[in-house]
Formats: sequence, C-alpha cells, structure tokens
Amino acid sequence: GEARRAVRAADCGRARRARVAGAARPRPAVARSVPDKTVAAAAVEVVEGHHVDVVPHVPSNYPHFTPFIENVEQYRAMYKRSIEDPDGFWGEIAEEFHWERKWEEKHTSWNFDVRKGPIHIEWFKGGLTNICYNALDRHVQEGNGDRPCFLWEGNEPSDDSVMSYKQVLDEVCRMANYLRSLGVGKGDAVSIYMPMVCELPIAMLACARIGAVHSVVFGGFSAEALAGRIADCKAKVLITSSGVMRGNKKIDLKGIADRGVELAAKEGHEVPTVIVREIKHAVPRKDTKVVEGRDVWWEDAVAGQSTEAEVEWVEADHPLFLLYTSGSTGNPKGVVHCTGGYMVYTYTTTKYVFNMQEGDVYWCTADCGWITGHSYLTYGPLLVGATQVVFEGVPTYPGPDRCWQVVDKYKVKQFYTAPTAIRSLMRSGDLYVKEHGRDSLRILGSVGEPINPEAWRWYHDVVGDGRCPVVDTWWQTETGGHMIAPLPNVWRQKPGSATLPFFGVLPVLVDEKGNELEGEAEGMLCIKQAWPSCLRTVYGDHERYQTNYFAPFPGYYFSGDGARRDADGYFWITGRVDDVINVSGHRIGTAEVESALVAHPKCAEAAVVGYEHPIKGQGIYAYVTLMEGVHQSEDLRRELVASVRSTIGAFAAPDVIHWAPGLPKTRSGKIMRRVLRKIATKQEDELGDTSTLADPAVVQQLVELRGK
Ligand code: ATP
Ligand code: MG
Repeated sequence: GEARRAVRAADCGRARRARVAGAARPRPAVARSVPDKTVAAAAVEVVEGHHVDVVPHVPSNYPHFTPFIENVEQYRAMYKRSIEDPDGFWGEIAEEFHWERKWEEKHTSWNFDVRKGPIHIEWFKGGLTNICYNALDRHVQEGNGDRPCFLWEGNEPSDDSVMSYKQVLDEVCRMANYLRSLGVGKGDAVSIYMPMVCELPIAMLACARIGAVHSVVFGGFSAEALAGRIADCKAKVLITSSGVMRGNKKIDLKGIADRGVELAAKEGHEVPTVIVREIKHAVPRKDTKVVEGRDVWWEDAVAGQSTEAEVEWVEADHPLFLLYTSGSTGNPKGVVHCTGGYMVYTYTTTKYVFNMQEGDVYWCTADCGWITGHSYLTYGPLLVGATQVVFEGVPTYPGPDRCWQVVDKYKVKQFYTAPTAIRSLMRSGDLYVKEHGRDSLRILGSVGEPINPEAWRWYHDVVGDGRCPVVDTWWQTETGGHMIAPLPNVWRQKPGSATLPFFGVLPVLVDEKGNELEGEAEGMLCIKQAWPSCLRTVYGDHERYQTNYFAPFPGYYFSGDGARRDADGYFWITGRVDDVINVSGHRIGTAEVESALVAHPKCAEAAVVGYEHPIKGQGIYAYVTLMEGVHQSEDLRRELVASVRSTIGAFAAPDVIHWAPGLPKTRSGKIMRRVLRKIATKQEDELGDTSTLADPAVVQQLVELRGK
C-alpha cells in the first residue's frame, strides 16, 4: 500500500472550477511527488489504482471550532475502550441523563450468532428512564426553558415561527394528557402522518412521554402505504393534519389519511380516533371534511389539558418506535428501536459527529418520516440541547438558493442533508450559493447514499468555502445512529469516504463465505458486536429479523452494503451488495462507476446497473443525467465512457449510456437501482414493490427514451 501511494499537491477546488470552465481533467494517471507538503490544502492520492482526493488534517483549515476530541490518538484510545469495555464506556455517558432507576453494572449482553439461539440484545439492563424527559424537562429544569427549540420555516419564506424548549414541553404534555385520556398508554402504537410542522416531533415526543410506540409514516406516502402501516401496528390513534403545501402544490393530506383509515379497516384494523392539526395556509378548517365521532381537531383536543404530564418511566429496552426502511432494495422492513440504547447513542453521535454544543443552531433537511428525522432531528439534537430549524418546504422552492437563504436567516452552524439534494443544487450552478454569505456554517453533513467525490468537493469548496469539514455519515434505519463517520477536524478527510467507525462500532469486511478480510480489502460490510442503538427486531416478525440481518453471515450483523478498506483503515462504501456488477470476473461496486461519471463536468447524476452480456457475463448499463443546459450527443457519450475507462479501467467502461432526464428514487431520495435493472432489461412490467417510489412517471419516461 504505502509504496504504491504518492501524493500530488493540487488545489482540487481550483482544479474543479477550471474543469467546469472547459479545461482538461487534471487527475494524474501517474502519481508525482509533493513539492511542499505543508502548503498542500488538498491533494490527490493514488491508492491501489483508485484516485483519491485527500484533505489533510490541518486544523488551520477549519479555524472556527475546537473539536471535543483533540486528535486521532485520543479517538483511538476512546474507541478501543468503547469496544473492549462497552459497559463502562457507555455507562459513563449515560450518567449525563436522568434515570429513574439506574442500570446494573454489567448492563450489556447480546447474542449475534444465529447458531447459538435467537438473536437477542440488551443495553442498560435494569435501568428505567424516559427519552422525552431527557430531551425536554431536563433542559427546562436546568434553567434553559427560554432557549429556542424549534425555528420553524414554512414552505413560503415569509412564513415562520419560534418555539422555546418550555413551549415545546408544554405542548408535548398537553398532547400526552389527551392521548392518555383516550386510553393510550405504555406499549400502544400511534401512527403519525404529518408534514414538517413542529407538531410532528411534538407528537412523537408525546408518545415517548407516555411509553406509547410511535410509527411515523412519511407525509408523501399514498393512502395504500399508510393503510398497510396503520394495520401492521394496529394503531390506536392516527395523528395527521388538514393539508400541506409542498413547493407550489397543495396536498389534501386529510383526504389521503381518510382513505388510509378506510383501507386499514378493510385490512382488519379500525382506528377509533384521528387527531387533525389544522394547517391554515394549506387547507383551513372550513374546507376540511370531518368524520363525526372519529376525528378531533388537535387544538380542541389539547385545549383543556394541563401543561404538566406525568412521565412514564420505562425499561431501557422498552420499544420507542417502529419505522419502515426506505424500500430501495425490496419491500420495507418495520424496524424497532428501544429507549435507553437509542437515547445514549443518538446523543453521543450528534455531539461528536456534528461537534454540537448546547444552543448551537443546527439544520437537518430530512423529514421526520425517515430515520434521519428521528435520530438527528427529534431526538439527538434535543438531547444535546440545540436549537434547530424545522423546514416544511423543499430545497428548491421558491428558488435553488432557498437553503443558503435559510442558513443566513438563522445563522445555521451545522447543516445536514442528502447527496441527492447536493447533486441537484450543484446542477443549478454556483451562483445561487454565492449570492448568500453562509458565514455561520461550521460543519456540512451528508447521509443517505455514497456521496460522489465530485459532489463532496462542491459541498466542501463552494458551499463551505473550504472552511467547513464535511461529515459523510454511513448508517441505516436499522443502526439507529451514525456508524462510520468522520469526527470533524480530528483526522484528515478523503472525499467519498465515510472514514472511520464511531465509538462502539466494530465493522468488518467478509468474503462470500463469511471469512473476515484483513487490512486493505473489499467485501461485505458487517458489524461484529452490538452497539447501543442496534435494531431489536422487525415489527411482528423476529424471524425475518434473524434471516435478513444475521443469517447471511453467522456471528455478524450484515448491512447489505459492500465496502472497501484502504491502507489507512478508511471505509469506502461501494454500494449495495445486491447491486454489485460482475464484468468478466471483476466485481464492480456501483458507487465507483457512478462517481467516475459524475466527475465529468457535464454529468450531474448517474446510476449504473448490470445486465446480462453474452461475453462478459454482465455488462454495465449507465443512466446519466446531464448538467442544466447541456445536451446529449454521441461525442459526449464517447467522452463519458472514456472518462470511466481512464479513471477506473477499461473493464469498468459502460456498455450502454441511457440519457435520463430523471432517475427513479425513493421518497427519501435514494436511487432505486432494482427498478433501473428492470428498465434496462425491458422487464418494466415486473417492478416489484414500488410503493416508496417518489415519481412513478420517471419510469415511463425512461422506458420511452430507451435506445435513443
Ligand atoms: P431498504 O432497506 O428497504 O432497501 P434503504 O436501505 O434505502 O431501504 P435506509 O435505512 O433509509 O433504507 O438506508 C440505508 C442505506 O443507505 C445504507 O444501507 C446505504 O446503502 C445507504 N447509505 C446511507 N448513508 C450512506 C453514506 N453516507 N454512504 C453510503 N451509503 C449510505
Ligand atoms: Mg436497507
């Protein structure tokens, strides 16, 4: 490794802009030596034939904050302890919270091996606590009740409001009391189907306060999807809203919710009560259909309720919520997370990965309908005591500069979004970013898909002006919290790599037979021991839990993702294992080919899939979305193929380029490659479960453009 590695000094930021201006791609085919290492703000490395950008750890690059952890050595010492002594390591952090009854000294235990019996995980055994109490009451009691908790930013830039920690707590208590008055209590399920208004996290926290289990269904889902999720958990209550504005579209959420409830009844589950929050600017009360005896307005429900509500102290392993995965690879799984471990882990990752302190202004663009909106909106940041932006709208309305306008308006310090949003904003050009100051920004986060190095660079150099570390966080609905992520300003970054594991996470790479691979290697990404926020079961189907996650490689939790570990021990997610393409015996991850395509200045987004090829076994079929204003041509097709050939190698050169105005994505913004595989092989009649597909029209569009 070392010998084959060399560093070339180059300001990649400048290089990228030069390329956009039409200059030749500056990536070196052969590595050269460094003229002056100390002034290298960024560099390109060649590791095992992979071109790798490097942003060295130079604290002066990011002068605006001091990390909690001073250096890599301190991280390594803490990491080692977290793995060897989980009881002690996590126990010490848990002391920062209120526990009604303390956990036992040896509080962790788990069986990760299907051969030794049922999979079983326990954290903070014996402890009694409540996550709502720790997220809200604790701060109010410490005298911080007046601190802004939610800075709500509506779909329209002129529409906003602020709620303090005390105001949020009051509203949570009133809703908790009302839910109790309906007979909802510990262990009962409550479905929540709402847009991004403060009442959404408030409803979640109210459930947590009384020990009820929330199941948030993303507000963009159809009545059918909602019905299935309501019936699955036998919800005692559905909390929804009258309507919602998304961009310039008005959505009749209540109408969809009504249909969902009807369909759920047909599936055998009757929901006795529907609580409706009025969203005046979308659909006012007078225009909302109300079902007598079943529906109640939120405002009326809480009107007479006290702002004090007794806390239900629950066992650390009491279920907190269930949530379905995004459905990128198959039909969604109902993941169950439990209170204590989830609380301690989301708090710790929020604090270290975002370098977050009490009172920091933080903005996560994810909807609460996804795990990111649970762990890094409703729970983690409130446990830290941050002030956060809750955004109802979309990043491109009214214009592609909305995000930066909001960043300036609230002086956002940590900004967390998905590669899909980054790529789409990048596509619109730098000008929209540059017309806003963005001086408050300190950290830029990414989650949801591998972030292509080109998009990483743009995020770092243009959005962050080169002063903000990028935290590329690899994790899953199932893991509850960040698993592999940089601790900002503690170690150097490599664009496209999620870098090193978080405390308590022991990632391993295994081959197809389940043998652990050492050192530099590429394989299936597994986790070897339990971490505090590991999912405990699949709702109502422990068998599926074991088969899906623990049976493929006995002794390990299997993530379903592939990864490469480089000479520095950094992890590079190569994509879903199911999506790996095998060309003439070369196993090729989707992420690498896609990143090579996106590195071309005219390519905005790319998705590759394999298809049957008579000679190579599999061929590479690439869907390409071009930058705004760029037109497809035969020359461009050849250029793109040549660019992959020179970046990765001839074996990875795409056989087909399919021009794509858009890509099929899940509602959470992930590319659905299984759908693209079907289109490539003309099997679009057999798409499988597409209930989480954001825009079904894209599929037809791609079919029509096939072969053009
Ligand atoms: P399903 O499990 O139903 O197919 P899903 O896997 O898309 O859906 P999520 O739990 O929302 O559901 O997504 C987790 C997946 O997202 C990971 O397994 C990984 O493939 C991808 N992912 C998330 N963050 C990153 C990241 N920073 N880098 C690379 N991949 C990421
Ligand atoms: Mg998954």
